[in-house]
Amino acid sequence: MALFKTLDIMDDSKSVDLNGDAEKIKCLIIGSGPAGYTAAIYAARANLAPVLYQGLEPGGQLTTTTEVENFPGYPEGVTGPVMMEDLRKQAERFAADIRWGIVTAVDFSSHPHKVVIDEKHLIHADAVIIATGATAKYLGLPSEDKFKGSGVSACATCDGFFYKGKDVAVVGGGDTACEEAIYLSGLCNKVYLIVRKDFLRASKVMQDRVLKTKNIEVLFGHHTKEIIGDNVVKGAILLNNQNQEKTITIDGFFVAIGHSPNTEVFKKFLQTDDNGYLVIKGSSSQTNIDGVFACGDVMDPIYRQAITAAGSGCKAAIDAERYIGEHVGH
Ligand code: NDP
Repeated sequence: MALFKTLDIMDDSKSVDLNGDAEKIKCLIIGSGPAGYTAAIYAARANLAPVLYQGLEPGGQLTTTTEVENFPGYPEGVTGPVMMEDLRKQAERFAADIRWGIVTAVDFSSHPHKVVIDEKHLIHADAVIIATGATAKYLGLPSEDKFKGSGVSACATCDGFFYKGKDVAVVGGGDTACEEAIYLSGLCNKVYLIVRKDFLRASKVMQDRVLKTKNIEVLFGHHTKEIIGDNVVKGAILLNNQNQEKTITIDGFFVAIGHSPNTEVFKKFLQTDDNGYLVIKGSSSQTNIDGVFACGDVMDPIYRQAITAAGSGCKAAIDAERYIGEHVGH
């Protein structure tokens, strides 16, 4: 779930000699959501002395949510920022080296792998774990920004529970939007699905499910003009394709118009799918390059949960440890 701002590959890092003086480490972890921190905890306990770079938003997407109630081990729930702080402290307890910085270039063409931080610091790493997450796309309305965390969300599984028995809206016409609408229909009184075209892009099976669910009303050909409320969301003003306004009364506004995996800087070397997610081999965390592993939302367009990201971070650290043991030696 880590949001990690990646920059375009800079001309193969012209200001840095990739074979020049470098900090040599065993295990580099890029990204600081549940996947990155869990990888750091496991790698540190396996004596890999991991260095973790946090990215632009330390803690990642979870730091933008309020209450997390579905992460096992927190019976009373926990806020996203506190959970990320706990994970960071747990990694530091085992001497993981957590740093500020952004990856600005990589070269995975030969071993050791080369990574440039902040356009100047060169690292040579035996193994690299990528946990740079994905960024939810938003509509870009000022009112959407204003109500983030107080009625506007990009994750129904995370926040839907807070709208039990209430009326909510979901924006989008893809599989994610349909899935979120169906999930919310089981919790909420009514779900509006706001679709900008006059058809759904989602798979047929998901479309059928949505259209058959009694408390989902699909508003085809509608755009969101503004989200309204005082301190919390109270409604939304929509515009149809004939430019006519319609106001709906809602307590929650879920944006489900897709995610962008933060993979730009790696694309020259790593295989991605059509949507930009890193491709891994089978159920491992291995990318197409030996010694480069991926975990969390950057390789997972389906589940996108803190707990699944954490689980995959654990797998990536174990894969990295085995790789170093077998190919590099401790
Ligand atoms: P998609 O890109 O498939 O769909 C995005 C939807 O949001 C489209 O309907 C699009 O409209 C709409 N949209 C985009 N921008 C705006 C905007 N500014 N205003 C209003 N609407 C907008 O993203 P998904 O996240 O749904 O899916 C991503 C991939 O993951 C897909 O391949 C999907 O099949 C897959 N997936 C699979 C799941 C599963 O197998 N269980 C679950 C979830 C996703 P328009 O159609 O007009 O472009």
